[in-house]
Amino acid sequence: MIEKIIPIAENHYSNGVAAIPSNFEAPVGLVTDTLKRPLRDLRISVTDRCNFRCVYCMPKDVFDKDHVFLPKNSLLSLEEMARFARLAVTHGVEKIRLTGGEPLLRKNLEKLVEMLSALKTPDGRELDLTLTTNGSLLAKKAQALKDAGLKRVTVSLDSLDDTTFKLMNDVDFPVAEVLHGIDVAHRVGIGPIKINMVVKKGINGQDIVPMARHFKGSPFILRFIEYMDVGATNGWKMGEVIPSAEVVRRIRAEMALEEIAPNYTGETSVRWRYQDDSGEIGVISSVTQAFCHSCTRARLSTEGKLHTCLFATGGHDLRALMRGGGSDEEISTAIAHIWRARGDRYSELRSAMTEGLLPTVKKIEMSYIGG
Ligand code: SAM
Ligand code: SF4
Ligand code: SF4
Repeated sequence: MIEKIIPIAENHYSNGVAAIPSNFEAPVGLVTDTLKRPLRDLRISVTDRCNFRCVYCMPKDVFDKDHVFLPKNSLLSLEEMARFARLAVTHGVEKIRLTGGEPLLRKNLEKLVEMLSALKTPDGRELDLTLTTNGSLLAKKAQALKDAGLKRVTVSLDSLDDTTFKLMNDVDFPVAEVLHGIDVAHRVGIGPIKINMVVKKGINGQDIVPMARHFKGSPFILRFIEYMDVGATNGWKMGEVIPSAEVVRRIRAEMALEEIAPNYTGETSVRWRYQDDSGEIGVISSVTQAFCHSCTRARLSTEGKLHTCLFATGGHDLRALMRGGGSDEEISTAIAHIWRARGDRYSELRSAMTEGLLPTVKKIEMSYIGG
C-alpha cells in the first residue's frame, strides 16, 4: 500500500490530482493518459540559467541582475535526474531531451549524458538521447558530449544576420560562434543536427528565406518554430506570430518543396523536402496547428517538478518524494499516476479561444520548465 503523498500543485489544465490513493496499484509498463496518449518523451531542464536573454524567452527587463535563480541545493542532482529517467523509461519513455535554460552551462553535464545513454527501453533498445542548446558553448563541449554518448543535438539560431541575432539574444552574441559550434559538433560525429529558428514578426521574418538558402544542401535540418505564448514574461501577442503556412509559402516562392511523411506518429514538426533532393526543412506550428492530440511529452523541471504540459501552471514535486526516501516503486507509481490523470491540451484550447478570452493564469517560464 502506498501511503506517501506527493504534494501536487494545482494545474489549471490537467486533471489535478491531490495524492496517490492507497488502493492505486503500482503499474508496470506502459501508461496512457485520459486522452489515450502514451508517455514517450521526457524533457529534462538541467538548469534555469542562461547566458542569453532571448527576447521571446528570458527578456532582460525581467531576467535582470536582480533576478533570483534557483539555489544550487534546490536543483536536482545529475544522479536524481538519471534515477527519474530510468524509472520513466519503464513507463514508455524512449526519447530524452536535455534542455533548460542553457543546458551546456550545467557542470558535468557529460556525466548525466553518460548515465542516460546507458539506459535501455524494456525491450532492449537504445534511447533517443539529444539536447537543445543555444550553441554558444558547443564548440568547447561537443567532443566530451559525443564521448559520453550523445547522439544528436538541436541548435537554436534565429538569424544569420548579426544585427538581428543580437537583437534576439540581447547579449551581443555573434552568429559566427554558433555556426562554429554547429560545425564542430558535426565534425566530432554528433548528428543529425537540427537548427531551430523561432520566427517573430517584426524581428526576424526577413531571415526566413536566407536561413533556408543557407542550410539547403547542408547536412543540417532547419526547423521554423512559431513564436509561442510560453511563460508570463514575453508579452506574447497573436499578431507577432508568422504562421508556418506563410513560412512555407515564402520559401516555396523561391525553392520547390513538397510535404513528406512524418518520421513517426506524433512528430511535432511537419516535414518538407526540397524537390531537387537538397535536404529538408520542418515547421513546428504550435500556435496555428496545435498538436496536443498526439503530445506524449513530460517535462522534469530543474528542481524536480514533473509537468505534463509546456503551459502548465503547476507541477508535481518528485524531488520531495526522492529526497524524502521514496523507493523506486513509489517514484514509479507517482509517475504512472500523474500521467494517467493527465488531460492537458492547452494549445488546442488556445486555438478554440479568441485572444481576449485567453486564460490569465500565471504560466511557468520555459527556461525553468524546459523548452
Ligand atoms: N537554451 C537552449 C536553446 O535556446 O536552445 C535550450 C532551452 S530553449 C527554452 C529551447 C527552445 O525553445 C529553443 O529552441 C528556443 O528557441 C525555444 N523557445 C524559447 N522561447 C520560445 C517561444 N516563446 N516560442 C517558441 N519557441 C521558443
Ligand atoms: Fe536562453 Fe534558450 Fe531561452 Fe534563449 S531560448 S534565453 S538561449 S533558454
Ligand atoms: Fe503538449 Fe503543447 Fe498541447 Fe501541452 S500545449 S499538451 S505541451 S502540445
